[in-house]
Amino acid sequence: MKNDYVPNSTADRFLRGETLSVDEYEEILNLMAAPEFAQEVTELAVKLRKKYFGKKVYVRGLIEFTNYCRNDCYYCGIRRGNRHAVRYRMNEEEILSCARQGYELGYRTFVLQGGEDPWFSTDKIASLVEKIKMTYPDCALTLSVGEHDKETYRLWKEAGADRYLLRHETAKEEHYRMLHPSSMSLAHRKNCLYWLKELGYQVGAGFMVGSPGQTRRNLAADLRFLKELEPEMIGIGPFIPHHDTCFARHEAGTVSQTLQLLSVLRVMFPQVLLPATTALGTLDPLGREKGLQVGANVVMPNLSPTDQRKKYDLYDNKICVGDDAAKCQDCLALRIKNAGYEMVSARGDHPGFA
Ligand code: SAH
Repeated sequence: MKNDYVPNSTADRFLRGETLSVDEYEEILNLMAAPEFAQEVTELAVKLRKKYFGKKVYVRGLIEFTNYCRNDCYYCGIRRGNRHAVRYRMNEEEILSCARQGYELGYRTFVLQGGEDPWFSTDKIASLVEKIKMTYPDCALTLSVGEHDKETYRLWKEAGADRYLLRHETAKEEHYRMLHPSSMSLAHRKNCLYWLKELGYQVGAGFMVGSPGQTRRNLAADLRFLKELEPEMIGIGPFIPHHDTCFARHEAGTVSQTLQLLSVLRVMFPQVLLPATTALGTLDPLGREKGLQVGANVVMPNLSPTDQRKKYDLYDNKICVGDDAAKCQDCLALRIKNAGYEMVSARGDHPGFA
């Protein structure tokens, strides 16, 4: 592949924000190897971020409330098949106490994330959502508890949930099959995302960067899929191996590719909510700051009690597992400030929803 960047019509159309074909997105990803083009994309990403969000960084208080999971995703440390995972689930009181702490720290969005844990029935989750929304009517509530049927998502929406995070993980069937057992299906995962959109959630999709078997072609298909779905949030972070999974010895994704994709996504979706993820901060001590500087506008500090945090062990060497919520808040506020941005206390809805 030639690395010299010659401005062409695909590049121009991309920079104008047009929707491209998979082939054309692949061309754009190839062009990103040319420093001149990559820089142009980053500069535009920074400009667009500034136009719509100024220096603001939104904060989401993450409550990882269970690591039980009925699924067996090959890359994930809390997959059902991992006998070494030390399982926990928080009770309602503990979850509500995390929310209380988060509220006091100024967070106005809570994210309830967990494995697909059948102990938390549809009704139990609905009742949790209701309680949190009743206590903090000024806060947004995001769920991230995997694949369910449309009626379940409807019930949770009616209970007050505002947003839902469900990374599609990969848009290509062959790649999906490399990462998941045959009991799971990409078609169902995509259906879930479309149902969530239909039900009026602000929806987050996304993928790991550098996951086993990922190619540029796959990534181009991910970009195209995201254009079709038009999510309000996009979560991407580097794949990081976990020692108790099939991919224990697989190499991790890279910080540089993640940063490039963040800027590509900002150009494609100028108003999207785009976190600088914990995985990015795990591979590079300044990873999240760098993420903010190329287009990210969200961070997701952890509110879970420290003794449980280390058990929500998706990948090796996850950062912040020893710090309590207040310490994470101070640390992140300082990091954001040093990166030239400002942590704000606001729900931080997608501009299209505000
Ligand atoms: N059960 C929920 C939450 C999954 S955990 C769901 O299915 O949506 C949240 C995200 O962590 C996953 O979507 C996946 O993209 C990411 N993740 C899992 N294992 C990882 C690993 N080894 N490295 C990096 N990210 C990982």
